[in-house]
Amino acid sequence: MDRRAILRLAVGIPFLGVGGIVRPGQAEHLVKPVAAAARPPAALRTPRLVMIDPGHGGKDPGAIGHAGTYEKDVTLDLAKELALQLRKTQGLNAGLTREDDHFLELGERVDVAREAKADLFLSIHADSAPNANARGLSAYTLSEKASDAFSQALADKENYADRLGLDLKHTKPVVADILMDLATRRTKAASLVARQGIVRGAGRDLRLLENPMRSANFVVLKAPDIPSVLVETGFLSNRQDEALLRDPAQRKRIAGILARELATLLASPTFA
Ligand SMILES: [Zn+2]
Repeated sequence: MDRRAILRLAVGIPFLGVGGIVRPGQAEHLVKPVAAAARPPAALRTPRLVMIDPGHGGKDPGAIGHAGTYEKDVTLDLAKELALQLRKTQGLNAGLTREDDHFLELGERVDVAREAKADLFLSIHADSAPNANARGLSAYTLSEKASDAFSQALADKENYADRLGLDLKHTKPVVADILMDLATRRTKAASLVARQGIVRGAGRDLRLLENPMRSANFVVLKAPDIPSVLVETGFLSNRQDEALLRDPAQRKRIAGILARELATLLASPTFA
């Protein structure tokens, strides 16, 4: 685990090393790297990378609107436009989990983001809602229920470390525990900050769904070390949303608003 990774883990979690977590005699192993972990210089962290995930693709069309709009096409176009605007107008790095119409498993999408060491994972969707009147943008983080199951699944330390990408072979068990706990805590907190920033910011210009900040058990949001948000840009089951989402000019506008809000978010000190 390199210094940069330690810094990234520790930033935004100032309470590490507070009594009660650290037992006597173990503090020196823990406190040193963390006490030294001031916020890294901006040059170390920029340009930050957003991994954009266009939902569905290939054999999986996603939702299909009344006018025959495929969700997989809307999400791909929105994601490409968003990546373009992040790079060109916001000076950020942007990647795509898929750049064409092919099928990707959910785990593969997460893997792409983790391999790229993305600062944020953003999955783009435009699904069907049970109620045809439901319309507007909403954003999801992983639900508490899923987080609990997630925590249980990660109880196996070696599997957890493996998924986290940390080299803990030479790390004392208590330090490994705390670093892993910190990583998930940071990820959850940053995901909530991201969801709030996107919804509040985009809501100034775009119609929002009722209770637009939501959580659910989306597999694609389960990266343990990358803040992750799934944005439902609207619902193809709603005729007005479908009309909006199938209009290239409107998609460009939505992408521009999301790009603006992501840039604001990534520059915010509350998003570690
Ligand atoms: Zn979808």
